[in-house]
Amino acid sequence: MNEVLLSAKNLTKRFGGLAAVNDVSVDLWRDQIHAVIGPNGAGKSTLTNLLSGDLPPTSGTVHLGGHNITGWSPEKISAQGLGRSYQKTNIFLPFTVWENVRLAAQSRTPHAARWLQTAARMKDINTRAEKALELAGLTARRHSVAGATSHGEQRQLEIAMTLATEPQVLLLDEPLAGMGVAEAERMVALLLTIKKQHGMLLVEHDMDAVFTLADRLTVMVNGQVIASGTPAEVRADSGVQAAYLGEEH
Ligand code: ADP
Ligand code: MG
Repeated sequence: MNEVLLSAKNLTKRFGGLAAVNDVSVDLWRDQIHAVIGPNGAGKSTLTNLLSGDLPPTSGTVHLGGHNITGWSPEKISAQGLGRSYQKTNIFLPFTVWENVRLAAQSRTPHAARWLQTAARMKDINTRAEKALELAGLTARRHSVAGATSHGEQRQLEIAMTLATEPQVLLLDEPLAGMGVAEAERMVALLLTIKKQHGMLLVEHDMDAVFTLADRLTVMVNGQVIASGTPAEVRADSGVQAAYLGEEH
C-alpha cells in the first residue's frame, strides 16, 4: 500500500541574505519518484542537503518514518533509512566496484559496533552488498577497478553504494548528468526498477527522463516552488512553461 515515507514541511535555508530554499514542502511516497526540476541555482541540491541532514534548515521540519529527523546528523538519518547520492561523486576510484559497494554496506553499521567483526555481521554486510550490486546491474563488473569503468557505470556504482545501506528513501542528485543516450536509457530503466521498493527524490535536468520517471513533480525557481503536481499538471502550467520548460514541453 502507498504511504508517505518522508515528509518535509515549510523548509527554508538561508545563506546570509539569500533564501536558497524558501518555504518548500514535499512528500515522498513509497513506490513513487518525486522529481525536482528547475534552472541552475534554483535550490535543488540545497533541498536535497536539507532532507539528508547535510545541512540544517533555517526553519521547517523533516519527518522520516515516524521520526522528526530535523537537525539529525547525516549518519543518524542514514541509519534511519535514507540513502543519497551526491552531484559530485563519492566513489573511491582505486578500489574495485565490489570493494566500493562493500564499504558502503559496512558504513551503515553504527561506529560503536564496527570493531565487532563477527562472522554473522560480515555475512550480513556481504549479502547486502551483493544484493545492491545485482540490483544496480553491476555484478559482471565487480572485479573492475572503479576508476577504469565508464562514466555510466560509475553512476550505477553510486546507486549501488546507496542501495547497499538498504534505504527506504533515496535522494538522487542528477544521476544522468554527463551520460550518453544509451547510458541514460540504462539508468532510467534502473531507476524504474528501484522505485518499486522505495520512495525517491530525483533531481534531474534531462526532461525526457523526468517525464518518463516522475509520478510527482516539483518545479523550483530561485528557492521557491512555482508548481507541483503530476507531470501532466505541471506540463500544462503556463507559469512553468514560461519560466522553465520552453516550447518543446
Ligand atoms: P541547484 O542545485 O538548483 O543548482 P543549489 O541548491 O546548488 O541550486 O544552490 C541554490 C543557491 O544557493 C545558489 O544561489 C547557490 O549559489 C547558493 N548556495 C548553495 N550552497 C551554498 C552555500 N553552502 N553557501 C552559500 N550559498 C550557497
Ligand atoms: Mg544542484
